[in-house]
Amino acid sequence: RRVVRPAEGEADEAEPYLAHTEGEVLVNSGEFDGLPAPEGGRRIVERLEAEGSGRPAVNFRIRDWGFSRQRYWGCPIPVVYCDVCGIVPVPDEQLPVLLPDIEDYKPKGRPPLAQAEEWVNVPCPACEAPARRETETMDTFVDSSWYFLRYCDPWNDEAPFERAAVDYWNPIDLYIGGVDHATVHMIYARFWMKVLNDLGLIGFREPFARFYSNGWVTLGNVKISKRAGNAIGPEQFVEMHGADACRLNILFLGPANEDMEWTESSIEGMARFVRRLWRVALEVCELAPEGEPVDDALARKAHATIAKVTDDVGRRFAFNTAIAAVMELVNELSRDTGGRSARFAAETAVSLLQPYAPHVTEELWERLGRSRLWTQPWPAADAALLEHETIEIAVQVNGKLRDRLHVPAGTSDDELIALALASERVRAHMNGDPRRTIVVPGRLVNVVV
Ligand SMILES: [Zn+2]
Repeated sequence: RRVVRPAEGEADEAEPYLAHTEGEVLVNSGEFDGLPAPEGGRRIVERLEAEGSGRPAVNFRIRDWGFSRQRYWGCPIPVVYCDVCGIVPVPDEQLPVLLPDIEDYKPKGRPPLAQAEEWVNVPCPACEAPARRETETMDTFVDSSWYFLRYCDPWNDEAPFERAAVDYWNPIDLYIGGVDHATVHMIYARFWMKVLNDLGLIGFREPFARFYSNGWVTLGNVKISKRAGNAIGPEQFVEMHGADACRLNILFLGPANEDMEWTESSIEGMARFVRRLWRVALEVCELAPEGEPVDDALARKAHATIAKVTDDVGRRFAFNTAIAAVMELVNELSRDTGGRSARFAAETAVSLLQPYAPHVTEELWERLGRSRLWTQPWPAADAALLEHETIEIAVQVNGKLRDRLHVPAGTSDDELIALALASERVRAHMNGDPRRTIVVPGRLVNVVV
C-alpha cells in the first residue's frame, strides 16, 4: 500500500512503485496523513515509543574489523603482553617496531613471528617484568588505506605526515583499478580518511576525486588471474615481437574500461604495423624535403590526429582508438612520403606513439634528424588547420565507384550532390537526370540512373 505521494499532483496509479521525491507527504497513514514524510516518520516513531512498542535508533551498516593476521609481511602491532600489567602499548620513543629477520615465513599453527624468540621476549615497558610482543601483524588494508598520505611527506620522522603536505596534494585526481577496488579497498581507504578528518589530521573527507575502472583480460572468456592459474607471461611475445609491439597490442585489444579477450594473432598484426611505421618513416627520411609543413591534406590529417589522440588519451582513456588514429595517419603518409608535409606527419606519428613504443619511436625520431624525443612536449594541434579539414567522398553511379570528391568536412548533402553531378567522370556514366541520389554523410554519394 502506498504511504507517500508527491508534494505536487497525484501519483501515477498504473506504476507499481513510486519513487521518493522532494517534499513528499504521507497518505493512507491515519492521523499522520498530509505530514511531510520526514516529520511524519519521526512522529510515528514517537508514538510507537509512547506505546512502548518501539524506539528510535540510527543504524550504520558497519561492522567490527578484526585486522590482525598470522602473517610475517605486515605492520607489527605495537603492544606487549605482561602478566602483571596486561596489554601495554609500546612507548612512542620505541616506535616503530620493526620486523625481525626470520628463516621460515610459513605459519605452522602459530604466527611466523612467534619463532623469533629474541624479538618476542622483551621486558614490559611499564614494570620491566618479562613480557611478550604481539606476534600477529596488521592486515594489508591497514597500510593500503593511507599509504598515499605518507607519499606526500615521506621523510618525516616525527609523524606519519604533516597535514599541510597532505592537504596540498590531496585528494588524488584519479584512481585506476578493477571494479573490485570500488567495493573493497576504496571502502577501507575512504573510511580511514573520514576518521582522520574527524580527528583533524587531514582537511578532506574524500580521498579519490575520480575512479576509472579497467576491464579484465580474458582467455576463452575466463578472467586471467593468479587464482585461475591461466596467466600468460608477456616474455615470449616480447622475445618474438619486441616490447613496443607487445605494449601497443595490449592497449589495442579494446577499450580499457571493458573486458577484452586475449588473442595471439593480434600481436602479429601489431608487429606488422610497427615494421610498416619503420619503413614509411625511413622513406620519409630519404625522400621528404626539410622545412616547415605546408597547408595540405597530410598536414591537416596530422593535426586532426594530434587532436583526436590528445582527447582520446587525456580525457577518455581510450588507447585503442588513439592507436588506430595513428595507424590511419601512417596510412595517409605512406601514399606521400616525399611530400612537403611528410616529415611533419612522420614526426607526429612517432611522437604520438612514444608513450607505448618508446624504443622504435626514439630510434626513428633520431633518424628523422631530431634527438631526445622523451624531452619533447606533447604535440599541439593547430586549431586553424582543424577547422577546414577535408574529407574524401566516394561518388558512385548505380553503386559503382566513378570519382572521389575532396571537400571540407561538414559540406551539406545538397552541395555534395551538386558537386557529384558536376563531375565529368560521373556525367560520362549518366544519360539525362538521375532517378535519385543517396548521400551517406562523410562517406559517399550514390547517383542512381
Ligand atoms: Zn608489566
